[in-house]
Amino acid sequence: MVKQATMLKTLQRIVEEVNNARGFREAMEIMVQRVREAMNTDSCSVYLRDRKQGGYVLLAAEGFREEAVGKVRVAPGEGLTGLVAQREEPINLADAAKHEHYRYFPETGEERYHAFLGVPIIHQRKVLGVLVVQQHEPRRYDEAEEAFLVTLSAQLAGGVAHAQATGSIPGVTSPDDIQAERWVGTPASLGVGIGTAVVSYPLADLESVPDRAVDDIDAEIEAYRTAIKAARSDIVTLRGRLETTLPREEQALFNVYIQILDSRSLAKEVIKEIRQNNWAPGALRRVIKRHEQHIQSVEDEYIRERAIDVRDLGRRILAHLRAQSRTVPDYPDNTILVGEEITAATLAEVPVKRLAGLISLKGSSNSHTAIIARALGVPAIMGAESRSLPNIDGKEVIVDGYHGHIFVEPAAYLRQEYQRLAEEERELSDALKKLRDLPAETPDGQRVSLCVNTGLVADITPALEVGAEGVGLYRTEVPFMLHDRFPGEDEQRAIYRQVLEAFAPHPVTIRTLDIGGDKALPYFPIEEDNPFLGWRGIRVTLDHPEIFLIQLRAIIRASVDLNNLHIMLPMISNLYEVDEALRLVHQAYTEVADKHPGLAKPKVGVMIEVPAAVYLAGALAERVDFLSVGSNDLTQYLLAVDRNNARVSNLYDALHPAVIEALEKIVEAAHAKGKPVSICGELAGDPAAAILLLAMGFDTLSMNATGLPRIKWVIRNFTRKKAKALLADVKKMDNTAQVREYLDKAIEEAGLGGLIRAGKS
Ligand code: PEP
Ligand code: MG
Repeated sequence: MVKQATMLKTLQRIVEEVNNARGFREAMEIMVQRVREAMNTDSCSVYLRDRKQGGYVLLAAEGFREEAVGKVRVAPGEGLTGLVAQREEPINLADAAKHEHYRYFPETGEERYHAFLGVPIIHQRKVLGVLVVQQHEPRRYDEAEEAFLVTLSAQLAGGVAHAQATGSIPGVTSPDDIQAERWVGTPASLGVGIGTAVVSYPLADLESVPDRAVDDIDAEIEAYRTAIKAARSDIVTLRGRLETTLPREEQALFNVYIQILDSRSLAKEVIKEIRQNNWAPGALRRVIKRHEQHIQSVEDEYIRERAIDVRDLGRRILAHLRAQSRTVPDYPDNTILVGEEITAATLAEVPVKRLAGLISLKGSSNSHTAIIARALGVPAIMGAESRSLPNIDGKEVIVDGYHGHIFVEPAAYLRQEYQRLAEEERELSDALKKLRDLPAETPDGQRVSLCVNTGLVADITPALEVGAEGVGLYRTEVPFMLHDRFPGEDEQRAIYRQVLEAFAPHPVTIRTLDIGGDKALPYFPIEEDNPFLGWRGIRVTLDHPEIFLIQLRAIIRASVDLNNLHIMLPMISNLYEVDEALRLVHQAYTEVADKHPGLAKPKVGVMIEVPAAVYLAGALAERVDFLSVGSNDLTQYLLAVDRNNARVSNLYDALHPAVIEALEKIVEAAHAKGKPVSICGELAGDPAAAILLLAMGFDTLSMNATGLPRIKWVIRNFTRKKAKALLADVKKMDNTAQVREYLDKAIEEAGLGGLIRAGKS
């Protein structure tokens, strides 16, 4: 029986072993074995949904006849297992044969069993399978046992969903269905990318080190030996340093470390892996993993704890290996950058011309990395499901940024199909480029100003090429992120000057530093439990007037003789913040204007990003020159959905009726005070949404350069009258899916289908 105290440990151990299995079937076999042992029961079996043939098929079983696996199938509601799936809840019976739903499957030999406990495996509301334990003698499994199985099933559900999505469950999905390994994730930047996967992993993170072939095996072995020596000397130094302070027993630990490092078996195994043509970090990962698994399978808890030491040593050796090699890898042409968590800084490491796609296991389409990918026009998928990062490095990958599909080593026909789509996309974007010098004007004469969002110097040129009428949002935190300390006033001035000059005489809206939330500066860490509700944007800069004033002076100085500057304040949630910020802007302006007579006063505006600002829109508009809606944050805060959390990303939709109503209210409030209003969140670059924004009367839409021609196309093809009629219809709808379908249909009918899916037509 499972004792409460050990339940958590046992659970963790099983989940870890299952996650480390080589394939899905092996994972399930390990799972049923371990559950049977842990629950001290006679049988454990797992049934999984078969999407092709329907029903649930027995995938692994302990305590059943071998031949039953893959043969026994139950329909929902059929037998007790089918009933668990249908009712979506556990069934716990002392004597199963007495239940009216009991059905006997002769292949299994389960006639011997009486006690039955079945729990459904559920992921995102879908029943993916059923986990069953059985026992010879009649008895009811107790509450702790039931809780154990329910918890285990919930923990395994994500992995099962992934395996089903990728078709990697042999026997469940027919082989001809598996053309390539397919992963799924959230589409985060439209487009199709075909190229070679380069796995990016944080320094000394052994888990995600990829396997890589090497040119010079001997040199690799030598590098490994040097790293071992360096790690050994670290430990000896540490031991010496702590000799007088640590008790004797604890010191013994260092001797264990040294023994492991000296042991021939570790070195031999790693060298053997290297000889099989794997680079030293990859070989090290494999060997350490094996040792860890072996140690963890031992029942003795003290010995199991030693797995941590092995892992720690692995990391130390890896750190030395990495110190020997260059830190920036060679990026091939058409790099598909893949990683557990791709940050803006990693992204910036790859030359833009070589970047064909991006896949990040963490984050969602609203994360800042996704926003930068869109700005660069690089197809991207965030929140991708996968646990096999090390295996993908160097392989050919297709990134379908429209549907969130990733194909690893695709079949030839699939590659051809995607190549054709990529080609059509190029033709479409060439056709869109022809719109460059035409105005963004509806057929019935409504003019909308189309601007770009930037933050990288790299996107100035593309923005100019698409005919942007200015910059609606310059994210100053991006250059701050690329520094290793706060940039000084002159440094900042030079950066802002580049943008102001490139776009003059068009307006350039520079947003003051917006850090906090998911935007951290490595040199200014902010640790909070709830960072999105914490010290963000204007709250930080008002608390640090010295940082704020340096930035304001740099921005204002950068505009000397150009006079095209707009300053924008992020995350405003009350009027006091605006008054205080305006005071500081005025102070910085007078200082600069003293030396530069004739310097135009910058226009100052605020971002509407939190619900409080929506209600204050009128009062805010009275105080400033313009309003700009940050729909990314506004959606997050109105819907209470974290913009970075892949688990709730299906709930994050800026076309939610509440967001639509808020947007209308903001436009009305600004116009009532005679002030212009723009929108600079990602919504502005969404063709379907642009129709509604046009109807609402936004004066300016600001978006990524890559999205701008598409939006111009929409505006030139929809009259304001038609857009208003569509908005009126949409407001009668009560769910987002319906709204999106309706608008997509309108776009298709206007002959602009290429804007919303792959290909050009
Ligand atoms: C927004 O929140 O919509 C916005 C434009 O700001 P950011 O995405 O940089 O938070
Ligand atoms: Mg924002």
